[in-house]
Amino acid sequence: MPVIFISVSTPQFFLDEQIRAQLVVQKYGGTSVGTPERIKAVAENIAATVKRGHSVVVVVSAMGASTDELIDLADKISKNPPGREMDMLLTAGERISMALLCMALHELDVEAMSFTGSQAGIITDTSHGRAKIVEVRAKRLCEALEKNQVCVVAGFQGVSSSASVTTLGRGGSDTTAVALAAALKASACEIYTDVSGVYSADPRIVDKAKKLSNLSYDEMLEIAATGGRVLALRAVEFARNFGVPVHVRSSFSPETGTWIRDEESNMEDPVVSAVTHDTSEVKFTLERVPDEPGVAAKIFRALSDEKLNIDMIVQNISTDGLTDISFTVPADERIKTIAVLEDEAFETGSMGYQSNENVGRISVVGAGMKSNPGVAATMFEVLASQDINIQMISTSSIRISVVVAKEDVERGVVALHSAYGLDSE
Ligand code: ASP
Ligand code: MG
Repeated sequence: MPVIFISVSTPQFFLDEQIRAQLVVQKYGGTSVGTPERIKAVAENIAATVKRGHSVVVVVSAMGASTDELIDLADKISKNPPGREMDMLLTAGERISMALLCMALHELDVEAMSFTGSQAGIITDTSHGRAKIVEVRAKRLCEALEKNQVCVVAGFQGVSSSASVTTLGRGGSDTTAVALAAALKASACEIYTDVSGVYSADPRIVDKAKKLSNLSYDEMLEIAATGGRVLALRAVEFARNFGVPVHVRSSFSPETGTWIRDEESNMEDPVVSAVTHDTSEVKFTLERVPDEPGVAAKIFRALSDEKLNIDMIVQNISTDGLTDISFTVPADERIKTIAVLEDEAFETGSMGYQSNENVGRISVVGAGMKSNPGVAATMFEVLASQDINIQMISTSSIRISVVVAKEDVERGVVALHSAYGLDSE
């Protein structure tokens, strides 16, 4: 897991202690602000929160699919747009929702003010399209909160140390929300979305999937990293690093969702909490790789220099001093990966490669795995009983992942969900 280095401005300097004790950060996703009616409903929810005596910082995503639409628009103009201009374009989506939401709040006589990422003090590094937050200077937000104003902040964006507008990567509004909650030391960060929480599997595939009421940061990290799309991975890393309790809940109903916070692990922990899957990666196999020191280092340095997100890596036993190495990368990085592998400077002997798009990953995640042997054996038995062949395996202390053929993924997820006793009655 990448480590986040961030300094958050010490809120004690700015924010009145009483205000902070009552402060909540609420994030509303694209569907939640997808139409004028939905924006009005969000405003009602915020007004009700204010009425209960809370100070509120709101983070919004762009309306509905508008980020995708902006990307399509750019694609019609240029196949290789400058990162700076792409970010300038994409940040427009969140500006629209923040301004409309403030108007809706004013209609309800709630004082509110909108802030771009830059105005909210979200300082990032300079990598356009996937910038990392390095600092939060929340002074302006603190001033507005002290005047009893609701702060509405555009998610997914910041300003770089060289004063360019940046975006934080798809789904980045979650990260904005958690970072602000950390910087302001808010009591909680509520993530309002179109599902009622984090589920034990994707409900579109497993109709007996159930909502999980509590997860540890580590479990949520594994779930987010292996295909659970409810929360952006970086947001979870932030929450863990700064101990921000996160509540993922539905913007369409008041029911309690899923709490993600520091959990004491104990013997009662479910061995497996969730079964996730991801079909967005491709598998590469490098063949005839010389089995000698420094070769893997050279290969993965070259891939990493191109900022490719390598995932599972498996090296086989060698014969005649040659071996093969397989790894997975996101499918949309396939072309870039091929470019690296075909770069002459990179040539290592007679090495060749194959890529396979017909793969998917199934993972089982659970904090109780630490103290319960046999989880992997059960997983492999269940897959065998479904006649599913395993191509790659990787594990962490609370996760086991396998790569299988794409067409086997859904069947495997359903069978595992049931085998680990996760099916709801
Ligand atoms: N609007 C951005 C996206 O669609 C950021 C977000 O929704 O979190 O990825
Ligand atoms: Mg989103």
